[in-house]
Amino acid sequence: MSKNTRQTRKVEISRSALYLFLSAFALLLMVDGSMGPAGAAPLDATQVEESETAAVEAATTADEQGEEVTAAETEAPASQAVEPFDVEAATQAYLAKLSPEDRARSDAYFEGGYWLLLWGFLYGIGVAWLLLGTGLSVRMRNLAERLTNRLPLQTALYAGQYLLVTAILGFPLTLYTGFFREHQYDLATQTFGPWMRDQMVGLLVGLVIMPIVLVVLYGVLRHAPRTWWIWGTFVSILLAAILILLGPVYMDPLFNTYEPLEDGPVRDSILSLARANGIDVDNVYQFDASLQSTRISANVSGFAGTMSIRLNDNLLNRMSLPAIEAVMAHEMGHFVLNHIYEMLIYFAVILLGGFAFLRWSFDRVLGRWGARWGIRGITDVAGLPLLVALLSLYMFVLTPVLNTIIRTNEAESDIFGLNAARQPDGFAEAALSLSEYRKIDPGPIEEWLFFDHPSGRARIHMAMQWKAEHLDELAARK
Ligand SMILES: [Zn+2]
Repeated sequence: MSKNTRQTRKVEISRSALYLFLSAFALLLMVDGSMGPAGAAPLDATQVEESETAAVEAATTADEQGEEVTAAETEAPASQAVEPFDVEAATQAYLAKLSPEDRARSDAYFEGGYWLLLWGFLYGIGVAWLLLGTGLSVRMRNLAERLTNRLPLQTALYAGQYLLVTAILGFPLTLYTGFFREHQYDLATQTFGPWMRDQMVGLLVGLVIMPIVLVVLYGVLRHAPRTWWIWGTFVSILLAAILILLGPVYMDPLFNTYEPLEDGPVRDSILSLARANGIDVDNVYQFDASLQSTRISANVSGFAGTMSIRLNDNLLNRMSLPAIEAVMAHEMGHFVLNHIYEMLIYFAVILLGGFAFLRWSFDRVLGRWGARWGIRGITDVAGLPLLVALLSLYMFVLTPVLNTIIRTNEAESDIFGLNAARQPDGFAEAALSLSEYRKIDPGPIEEWLFFDHPSGRARIHMAMQWKAEHLDELAARK
């Protein structure tokens, strides 16, 4: 159901791919603690996570919940489904399952993420200032120029140095947000060694991707110094699309093991859902995300021959079948509704605005500080830290807009999932489980500003509303 964003250090490849790509532009995307780590890619709209304890609880009480809520709130026998069903009371009954202690903890985790957005942004500005102000960026460019006369190679050499230096300078924040903080809230399962190994693999992947992205973009800059922001947007979205499509196939397996899901009711029911919703696959894969975290996650991704449905072992082991169906139907919604392509179009528009802002602002800043920093102009790769800082400012300001775009798609997928799986109580269980790392009942402005997925309360209310409109069908199924 949800993804995440936020800052979740769960290693997700499609997100990682996008993140690497976006970070090339310094799209310090908002991250919601759950869906991804700071800087998690918002496009990774296809992920769900949930808490271990909540999930176990949900799994063990799965069968009781539906009847419990129905009976308790409607005070009617299950067969008399035509009795009024109090949507608000049923929603509150689910929310009440979260203990005050658990609620306080998830609120603290999620609200801490609001501040991390700010600290992450300021930290990035600080790193850029250090690279420019100390002349380090110019020295990295000079070294590249001494090693080769070819411009694209110079750009690639600078890109590699830039990634290494920013990874090192950013490591304290990465270590806190990605390791210590996740353990503090019992969301991570990795010890330091394996965590560090994943970081290094991610860095190596970045060392392959980042130079390619920057060589292409600086090539555009040099060939179209006045209109580069338009062509750069086209090229960027094309690169992002390629990474999103290739990520699940080539990058995810670097972090986790994927294997076919064994025959049984879970596989049968997922494939049945897929067939019923026009998704042409004949296999389902599971992967060992419990290596990294306790969150549940799934996705439907790929194209042509790489099309596949994947869910993680946390989802499989900790959730009831109705909840698994609800989650998988939500993920299928992202696919059927073409959310990835829709997001690429939205981000193209946002990036066009961002590049236009760079076109306007870069020369102004350079006029003031350029001589001191030794930057020759916008086509000088040594100016990359400034481009990144300016773009991260733009993205930081647009955080609520980006969140709302993603959250709107998530709500669409929620409705799709309810209609496809027809498991409102399974859906509510999953939404409740996700509350381990996402504040369950925020205020409306808070939700608009910071939530890239509907809140748990909004989702449970949606599920109970759906249930209220389908009481006859649900009663007949029993
Ligand atoms: Zn989703």
